[in-house]
Amino acid sequence: MGYEKSIEAFEEAYKVIPGGVDSPVRAFSGVEGTPPFIARGEGGYLIDIDENRYVDFVQSWGPLIFGHCDSDIEASVIEAVKRGLSFGAPTTVETELALEIVEMFESIDKVRFVSSGTEAVMSAIRLARGATGRDNILKFAGCYHGHSDSLLVEAGSGLATFGTPSSPGVPADLTRHTLLATYNDIESVQKCFAQSPDGIACVIIEPIAGNMGLVPADEAFLKQLRTICTEHGALLIFDEVMSGFRASLTGAQGISSVKPDMVTLGKVIGAGMPVGAFGASSAIMAHLSPEGPVYQAGTLSGNPVAMAAGLTSLRKLKANPALYEQFEAKAKRLVEGFKHAAMAVGVPMVTEVRGSMFGFFFLNKPVKNFADACENDSTLFAKFHKGMLDRGIYLACSSYETGFISTATTDAMIEQAITSAEATLREITAK
Ligand SMILES: *Cc1c(COP(=O)(O)O)cnc(C)c1O
Repeated sequence: MGYEKSIEAFEEAYKVIPGGVDSPVRAFSGVEGTPPFIARGEGGYLIDIDENRYVDFVQSWGPLIFGHCDSDIEASVIEAVKRGLSFGAPTTVETELALEIVEMFESIDKVRFVSSGTEAVMSAIRLARGATGRDNILKFAGCYHGHSDSLLVEAGSGLATFGTPSSPGVPADLTRHTLLATYNDIESVQKCFAQSPDGIACVIIEPIAGNMGLVPADEAFLKQLRTICTEHGALLIFDEVMSGFRASLTGAQGISSVKPDMVTLGKVIGAGMPVGAFGASSAIMAHLSPEGPVYQAGTLSGNPVAMAAGLTSLRKLKANPALYEQFEAKAKRLVEGFKHAAMAVGVPMVTEVRGSMFGFFFLNKPVKNFADACENDSTLFAKFHKGMLDRGIYLACSSYETGFISTATTDAMIEQAITSAEATLREITAK
């Protein structure tokens, strides 16, 4: 495959955009080569400006559960565009989308829309602090909750790839209120509560972590977390920006019996348009302005075009619950194929699947937390990523990311990916 035009485009971008990209993980810093610049998408494929065609397992980092250019979503967006791009006034489509979400999620009576996952989580945290009157929050190492100041502490994926535990520009005074615990380790949570005499406003978790590779929380751990939060009057927030509508229709909440107090959503909820949301019981949401004193706002929040895309997408998912079994079957076939290919050349691999989400680590032990995930062989991953890309398989360019299946991912694409993995791993290990 030739990448000449992309290499040139990257050099041009570099001159005027930091690192040549608008989100750091896109820059290929943790893998070999430079990022292909994308010309267009076609169902399950991405096509770059050199006309290379890739099977897309990234899907814009999660949102595109119907693949690229889904005709229903496209039609509803075009209709909405023709009515006007934004009004800064209420529209009925916001209520329609809110109704769908309230109906789907037991823990949500009311929901507010924003324009990104970062904004959803940042707002949810403010609301939790406002509702409880407490400052401290607890997060888990390896969980990513967007790039707002309080949450940029051992935040997985992009940051992990760059080895930045937090970021310059974030005052220590802010992260002082962010307590850090170990994923799947209730003792580390108990310690944080014991060390927090003024209480903890909320515990935020990715119940199915997708930003340190795919690492689901154990059901027993989630139950213990629920109990300790209830005991201490701390709100439990499930950040389902990635897992929502991905792991199951209702994300982790469709799989686990544990119910959170608040939920954050993003990615699939906008079907590729910028949408985030946070929701909770009516009592908690009543603290939010204008009903209550906790301020939160947005010029483009509930944007009618973005809402139209989300509404069509969620209704399509809801109308076809069997989709999740198909996603899961494909994801399992894929990672089993990868694992088989790895075993054949004596490379260790562990894999994980939840609905349309899949992950794999070059490791010979189960991954339960961020420290385990960090043991992944990143050099091997970088070579694997390059070999796959050269064979037309587009995987996330970091070993701390999750892969995705869409309705446009065909069995033939899965088989192509497996054959490519076999060839790539043979090539790497032969050297
Ligand atoms: C992607 C992600 C976010 C941030 O969403 P953005 O839309 O990128 O701001 C927050 N939480 C989780 C779990 C995510 O996966």
